Amino acid sequence: MPLKRVTFSGRLYRHEEDEDSSFRSSVIRGLFFMGIDIAIGLAVAIAFFFTFSGYLIHPVEHGFYCNDLAISNPLKPNTISTIHLLVMTLAVPFFLIALLELLLFREVETTNRTGKFFVSVTMRYLEFVVAYTTMTFLLETAKCAFGRVKTLAFRVLRSSFRAMATAAVEVAPKVTTCKSELAPWPEFIQERIDLFDKLMAKHREELANKIAEPIKITLPDGKEFDGESWRTTPIQIAEKISRGLADTAVIAKVNDELWDLDRPFEGNATLKILKFDDDEAKQVFWHSSAHILGEAMERFCGGHLCYGPPISEGFYYDMHHEGKNVSPEDFPKIEEIAKCAVKDKQTFERLEVSKEDLLEMFKYNQFKVRILNEKVKTPTTTVYRCGPLIDLCRGPHVRHTGKIKAMQVTKASSSYWEGKSDAETLQRVYGISFPDSKQLKEWQKFQEEAAKRDHRKIGRDQDLFFFHGLSPGSAFWYPKGAHIYNKLTDFIKKEYRKRGFSEVITPNMYNSKLWETSGHWQHYSDDMFKVDVEKEVFGLKPMNCPGHCLMFAHQPHTHNELPFRFADFGVLHRNEFSGALSGLTRVRRFQQDDAHIFCRDDQIIDEIQGCLEFLKFAYNEVFGFTFKLNLSTRPEGFLGEIATWDFAEEQLKEALDRFGQPWELNPGDGAFYGPKIDITIQDALKRNHQCATIQLDFQLPIRFDLHYFDANNEKKRPVMIHRAVLGSLERMTAILTENFAGKWPFWLSPRQAKIISVHESVKGYAQQVQKRLFDAGFEVEFDADSPDTMNKQVRNAQLAQFNFILVVGQKEKENGTVNVRTRDNQVRGEVSVDDLLVKFRRFNDEYTKDTENVADF
Ligand SMILES: [Zn+2]
Ligand SMILES: [Zn+2]
Repeated sequence: MPLKRVTFSGRLYRHEEDEDSSFRSSVIRGLFFMGIDIAIGLAVAIAFFFTFSGYLIHPVEHGFYCNDLAISNPLKPNTISTIHLLVMTLAVPFFLIALLELLLFREVETTNRTGKFFVSVTMRYLEFVVAYTTMTFLLETAKCAFGRVKTLAFRVLRSSFRAMATAAVEVAPKVTTCKSELAPWPEFIQERIDLFDKLMAKHREELANKIAEPIKITLPDGKEFDGESWRTTPIQIAEKISRGLADTAVIAKVNDELWDLDRPFEGNATLKILKFDDDEAKQVFWHSSAHILGEAMERFCGGHLCYGPPISEGFYYDMHHEGKNVSPEDFPKIEEIAKCAVKDKQTFERLEVSKEDLLEMFKYNQFKVRILNEKVKTPTTTVYRCGPLIDLCRGPHVRHTGKIKAMQVTKASSSYWEGKSDAETLQRVYGISFPDSKQLKEWQKFQEEAAKRDHRKIGRDQDLFFFHGLSPGSAFWYPKGAHIYNKLTDFIKKEYRKRGFSEVITPNMYNSKLWETSGHWQHYSDDMFKVDVEKEVFGLKPMNCPGHCLMFAHQPHTHNELPFRFADFGVLHRNEFSGALSGLTRVRRFQQDDAHIFCRDDQIIDEIQGCLEFLKFAYNEVFGFTFKLNLSTRPEGFLGEIATWDFAEEQLKEALDRFGQPWELNPGDGAFYGPKIDITIQDALKRNHQCATIQLDFQLPIRFDLHYFDANNEKKRPVMIHRAVLGSLERMTAILTENFAGKWPFWLSPRQAKIISVHESVKGYAQQVQKRLFDAGFEVEFDADSPDTMNKQVRNAQLAQFNFILVVGQKEKENGTVNVRTRDNQVRGEVSVDDLLVKFRRFNDEYTKDTENVADF
């Protein structure tokens, strides 16, 4: 077996071959192999160094992103420096040994395999250390030489890495074209892009020159991540937490501010990652979708975009285009272009631009120019680009258009620029979008169900109410609708007697001086209807509170008379913009089950608790809604003393705690005059509505100088509580109509029973039964001359949602009974009229929810 040698360099070679090789001299041979190994070692060391010194390269969707070079200072106490220091310290003796070996050129001879391996590994480590040490030594020397400035070598390296990274990002994004779009695109699109690209290049350079500092990023659970200012982005942190989170993240919240996921942190920060289920994230998602819709509309017909905001469900974009009306046939075409934009995963790029440049960028579009001149008060503002669309926008957005996986154009209508009827007419296109198509399907199904329940449709089908162009926003209630309206007020009135409220009646119209005193004239006069009366301006009341203050002030009160609970169903008017009116949910004329409580400080808790009990009875027990409670506290720009606010908030908290149902805090969301409790109910379709409020008010009692006399006959200021249970009766009727889908509970129903006779001969008996039930106060009908068969009459009565259908024939006439069946076609059989009256009275008095299916019918 030939003898193998291991030289200093750790390389194996055949001794015999060496005898004839051109490298005769062992010194030269040794140096040669050592050179190769040092080169390898150096490469390993560089990789090691870059990895551990924070020069990380992150892959992103379009190319990759690299962190800044962060050469760690060996004297800085962090992990990287510790490794650095350790390697360096260890390296010194090894380096000396290695040097010694080289000088002596001592060859290690062995025939033992393990020995060879051991020697080989040792040698390799020595080489690595040599390389590492040499490089570090050089670097540190260079660093010292340049002081705080990074070495020239690194600057070159960095910029070349940057150039590579930037080049990767700047590869022109792919644009999928589709047949329904304009070809070629309007010229302004490319002109806009050219200017954007120029400004973006400048911005990238500026960003690259920002000095990165180590920062801490704190999550809501207190977990901390290290990062670098101007480099680390929220999405990188999300990726560190989990791949799934990074995928489903919609938007970040940095220091409580909504923040693009790819926008670098600027310093130490708190971070929250929001998904689509979060309301704020939903708005960002729909807002981003509006950009896609805008892009599609531009590519579809080249119109000029105006405003494109998210709305409570979905989004819209307004566009100005002479002679173009977007019709439902255009929807699939716009959707097709939008789909292309989604497929291309266009990134949303943020850029801060001076107003001057923006005026240039949007010079083709008079509407954006108007926004810039009238709304933008700062020297710079931001634009965002996604694909070919560059839009004036504060952001933030989802990362790229690919996140909007399911989108639908829902409707189009015409609108006016900024809602002003004398301004240009615009085309408004509405859309909805979701992160996946399953959610869109669910939404579509929900829409079908909601359309069936739409109160405007049911209102028409059941002859409840209608609107007329001669008094927009003010419903005309037919008898059946008025019945429901009055039943609701009767229910509340009955509760008022139990709960110590007294009803008052106050004027509808007041001299503007009253509104000046209350503060409404200053803040609210645009929303009021004004009337000139004998050279003075009067206003129709939009709320009852100031009138009740006059009432309280009109007589002196002593402490033991309090609390006063004034209830008022007064007619209120608010001057809503005609385009904003919608069925019974947004009206100009309405009534509320409004009441104002004037009480002493020490009575607040009991009063609030009383209001909460009232709510619970109405919502849970009578209507069957669930509800959520929120306490909204002191907002910015509040009026009054902090101490008063603190006291009031404590009182509300105490009342909520005593009430026992869970509640949440809504900091800073109170009214400027006092904290409030917001009550949100959830209907049968799981939609949320806010109807009731309980608000504490310290300001009106001051403005109207209200007082009472305490036990020492000293003047004291009462507290005022505004509260409503149903809120607007119009709106509540709409909510109840949709919640019950027109199947009214018996006590509220305008069609409680329908009598159907099987034969001419029992008509008289049927009329007798009808009279008895009607006289007892029930809504019962009998159509003596119906030409329809009995079966058809039963069917029609069921469709008209009569709770009960009472069939009478010869047998029923003889027994003094009726044969009962329900609107759901449940047959309850023969019941005596006396018995039926007892049951009906009980259903009515107890607000029985599902009368047709109660066990003890
Ligand atoms: Zn935007
Ligand atoms: Zn009020």
